[in-house]
Amino acid sequence: MAKFEIPSEQWAQVVEKSGGPVVYKKIPVQKPGPDEVLINIKYSGVCHTDLHAMMGDWPLATKLHLVGGHEGAGVIVAKGDLVTDLELGDYAGVKWLNGSCLACSFCMQADEPLCPHALLSGYTVDGSFQQYAIAKAAHVARIPKECDLEAVAPVLCAGITVYKGLKESGARPGQYVAIVGAGGGLGSMAIQYASAMGLHVIAIDGGEEKGKSCRTLGASAYVDFLNTSDLVQEVKNATPDGLGPHAVLLLAVQEKPFQQATEYVRSRGAVVCIGLPAKAYLKAPVFDTVVRMITIKGSYVGNRQDTQEALDFFQRGMIKVPIKTVGLSELQDVYKMMEEGKIVGRYVVDTSR
Ligand code: NAD
Ligand code: ZN
Ligand code: ZN
Repeated sequence: MAKFEIPSEQWAQVVEKSGGPVVYKKIPVQKPGPDEVLINIKYSGVCHTDLHAMMGDWPLATKLHLVGGHEGAGVIVAKGDLVTDLELGDYAGVKWLNGSCLACSFCMQADEPLCPHALLSGYTVDGSFQQYAIAKAAHVARIPKECDLEAVAPVLCAGITVYKGLKESGARPGQYVAIVGAGGGLGSMAIQYASAMGLHVIAIDGGEEKGKSCRTLGASAYVDFLNTSDLVQEVKNATPDGLGPHAVLLLAVQEKPFQQATEYVRSRGAVVCIGLPAKAYLKAPVFDTVVRMITIKGSYVGNRQDTQEALDFFQRGMIKVPIKTVGLSELQDVYKMMEEGKIVGRYVVDTSR
């Protein structure tokens, strides 16, 4: 078994007050409890959820001071006495679900994201924007040794979430799915998972650069919400019979697309809500929802099995999302670009700089 030198202090990005900014500073390295592992985080993806957490714009309180981040890929360097199926030196990932009770009715059925006692990485417990992070051994992602830790990091939230959302949509190979917010982190992943699952993708986002990226990743059509006179008609026209896509994945951080989706989804289709714009509401006409038999549902990250399946798609080389890597010290700049909607694909931070 490998042996690791663990420092007493480490670099981290800390939210000291709601609204931010993050403060880059040295903090102590924690020790894992009996059922926990300590992961030396090498890379972490930056999810829009981390920005929501810093801004405090959701109706759910965060820990303060808070180390954000929940797409952390690294190496296990210490573990508690009860951890028997993971070894020092193994690759592992800190994901949104840091831990859950494993005893409630949801956990009993592997619906652990719904656990009332769930611990959330980078939200209710410290996450991956530090060099050494703690997570419950039962829940860490088991990352195969062949995986590149930098490229795999965004799978740990964005990948798992969109893969689960696509399964929840009920869309079958050969059918059409509209991906709203397709140029962003979750969206780029969603295009690739959907393509790998044999679905046709209609990508919706704003601007030329995102359009180019969506097509490169595999979308058969791109609808630019900033540059269309009739978005609903354009989305329907992107299906061969003009009746609209079989499913819609809503990933945007804006309320408007949540009001539009039932207008273009196909009859008997599903609208899956995943993006979490602050203070937003859904709206759908009752008449259409009934007589066109539309399903509207939410989808929230994924369980341990979804995690391993999402990683398996990555390992097989089907998921190649554009990432840009910067130092952990530059996290605030990433948040600024994210706020302005300028990010194509995913930013990843390297914890060594
Ligand atoms: P992102 O900022 O990378 O991407 C959002 C994209 O939406 C951007 O490309 C933006 O241009 C686009 N967009 C904005 N307005 C639009 C519109 N009107 N129509 C189409 N596209 C539009 O964000 P992300 O990291 O991909 O996260 C997206 C959302 O998903 C966030 O709210 C995040 O908190 C949430 N999320 C939810 C879950 C879950 O389990 N349900 C998991 C992870 C993230
Ligand atoms: Zn996330
Ligand atoms: Zn539980």
